[in-house]
Amino acid sequence: MSLALVTVGSGTVAPSAARTSPAHWVERGDVRLLMDCGAGTLHRLAEFGLEWQRVSHVALTHFHTDHFGELPALLFALRHATKREEPLVVLGPAGTVRLLRSLADGFGSWMLDPGYSIAVLDLKPGEPFPLGGGVLLDVHPTPHTPESVALRVSAPEGRLVYTGDTGPSDELAAWAAGCDLLLAECSLPDALALDLHLTPRRAGALAQRAAARRLVLTHFYPEVETVNIRAEAAAAYSGPIAVARDGDRFEVGK
Ligand SMILES: [Zn+2]
Ligand SMILES: [Zn+2]
Repeated sequence: MSLALVTVGSGTVAPSAARTSPAHWVERGDVRLLMDCGAGTLHRLAEFGLEWQRVSHVALTHFHTDHFGELPALLFALRHATKREEPLVVLGPAGTVRLLRSLADGFGSWMLDPGYSIAVLDLKPGEPFPLGGGVLLDVHPTPHTPESVALRVSAPEGRLVYTGDTGPSDELAAWAAGCDLLLAECSLPDALALDLHLTPRRAGALAQRAAARRLVLTHFYPEVETVNIRAEAAAAYSGPIAVARDGDRFEVGK
């Protein structure tokens, strides 16, 4: 068994020919987890040959449109472009159930009754959710929006932490401590640094403080691509660093 990560969408809200909006695919046994579901996700999943038809869970980090805007399209595709019968579980921070209900007000009541069973749950920090096969998902708040969280997938093979969107946070570093792979947002260069996002250097510092075994950077605004992302992160982090592209695949842990 292996725990695999595919960085499906390494971009942001800014349209890009090379990077679609945030989406990351995690696979282990029967668990097929989609983390975030921004614009472009569905076509990228098809392009990379990922079994989107058999997605078991979707987990959202927060309610910025570029992180969940294509969720209705995924639910619609599962309804009309597959013969799906397996249940789908949609997870996210506090407010996810309310969000899905209001989306259904606009898109149609089929969203919560799509012809396959769908469960929608708000996750709470400190209460890990079992994805099956001994894999757990849990969340930790991040300084970005009132609801925003980071996601942690814990499997026998290793632990993956995805920051979602975040500013610098010592609490987040402590929670992520010892993870095998830290998938960290890396929005902006130092010259445009904000408290609500990370720069390459700050993403590196987060990985160093967490003693992550490996750092994968994602969520690049066009402005950050004008600097040497890897070198700036390496100034703060001594472990291996990857600058993700859409479609890159990583094995987590052993
Ligand atoms: Zn974002
Ligand atoms: Zn955001």
